[in-house]
Amino acid sequence: MATKSRLFVTLPSVDRLLGTGPIRALIGVHGRALVTDAVREVLADLRRRLSAEGEAAVDATAPRAIAERVAERVAARARPSLRRVFNLTGTVLHTNLGRAPLPDEAIAAIAEVGRRASNLEYDLEAGGRGERDDHIEGLIRDLTGAEAATVVNNNAAAVMLLLNSLALRKEVPVSRGELIEIGGAFRMPDIMARAGARLREVGTTNRTHLKDYAEAIGPRTALVMKVHASNYAIHGFTSAVGERDLAALAHGRGLPLVVDLGSGSLVDLEAFGLPHEPTVRETLAAGADLVTFSGDKLLGGPQAGLVVGRKDLVARLRRNPMKRAMRPGKTTLAALAAVLRLYADPASLAARLPALRLLARPAGEIRALAERLRPLLAERLAAGARVEVVACASQIGSGSLPVDRLPSAGLAIRPAGGKRGTGAALARLSAAFRALPVPVIGRVHEGALLFDLRCLEDEAAFAAGIAELRLD
Ligand SMILES: *Cc1c(COP(=O)(O)O)cnc(C)c1O
Repeated sequence: MATKSRLFVTLPSVDRLLGTGPIRALIGVHGRALVTDAVREVLADLRRRLSAEGEAAVDATAPRAIAERVAERVAARARPSLRRVFNLTGTVLHTNLGRAPLPDEAIAAIAEVGRRASNLEYDLEAGGRGERDDHIEGLIRDLTGAEAATVVNNNAAAVMLLLNSLALRKEVPVSRGELIEIGGAFRMPDIMARAGARLREVGTTNRTHLKDYAEAIGPRTALVMKVHASNYAIHGFTSAVGERDLAALAHGRGLPLVVDLGSGSLVDLEAFGLPHEPTVRETLAAGADLVTFSGDKLLGGPQAGLVVGRKDLVARLRRNPMKRAMRPGKTTLAALAAVLRLYADPASLAARLPALRLLARPAGEIRALAERLRPLLAERLAAGARVEVVACASQIGSGSLPVDRLPSAGLAIRPAGGKRGTGAALARLSAAFRALPVPVIGRVHEGALLFDLRCLEDEAAFAAGIAELRLD
């Protein structure tokens, strides 16, 4: 005990540390409060170590060693919680990883409008109040043929607003095969209930016919709804009613047809070598009166929900007080408008819109990248793991085209047979990549940590990160 208390005397005081060069430099960057807290924490930690380890911990009490620990702690505290990562999961529009990466044009628009005042709700010609939707409505009209458009925070909000505005206390027939659940608590029956509309289930899970809808429509029906089965597919003995037939039926009964399209592609993806996904224009042309879709799925923009179609119906949505609770901010609108403007030139779209560029990226290019990076990883991991270039399959993600896979390439990392078993070794390896300054997120597949390189464009930053990998 006596020896230990003598060891404590070797610890410098908080005040003395705050006066040393390296700590003063930290204060200059991060401010006194943050650095003082970190100094106190490091000293408390050292006291614990001295009493547990005795002499063995003395080296750590040197002022320079303490300053290094303080610097690490301050850096960790100053680091934002929300930050960039490398998405090597193979899912391009990964909801947990922020969905669509934005194009430079959108980033510039966010910076421009975010930094200073803007005409967010101000009509520059008339010199009076304007509408937020004015910034995107003309663009949407040109791209989809819709008469009108309104924007809210996401597609879930768009569906909610639509149902609450047009179907409050009324019935909405939806096919049993379309009562979807999307990750993160979006279940059509629940949304419908919260919006105050009554779901009227139609047909069966695998087969729904036009006569099922016809029988379900009655005096309490507000509209007919079709939901794009985004994140699953039904195969085998199936039947669904297309927009055209459904529109004819609904219109014959004086009701609107609304379609929740989910992804809402604005261009024919087949032109980019991708599987076909119904476009917003096609859906409107088939007779839908309103179409809802996300801004950050195949459209490739910021998180947003769009409702486009008939002017009188959009006007009813705008009049709903709920709209005020769902309105998007200026940075979202600036980014969305910038992305929509890119669509004006389809020829340059695949080069300028990152979501589309990544989805359309040729497998050969991805494989060449994997070949270049393999030696780097193999060298860094040395005897700890085996690194192989493998063929793999990417997914579009966010429920778009769930059964379609895009041929891709990546690196499979197999930990060397450790005594703690493959599962534990893989978990440690994955954790080490997640702990990098720019965390690398892959997926575990067939006993390997797999990095699908489809979404890796910043090769230099990735290579620099690998040099910092710590395996212990
Ligand atoms: C993705 C999706 C939603 C939810 O959209 P968010 O923008 O994530 O709120 C709703 N409906 C369908 C059909 C979808 O695919």
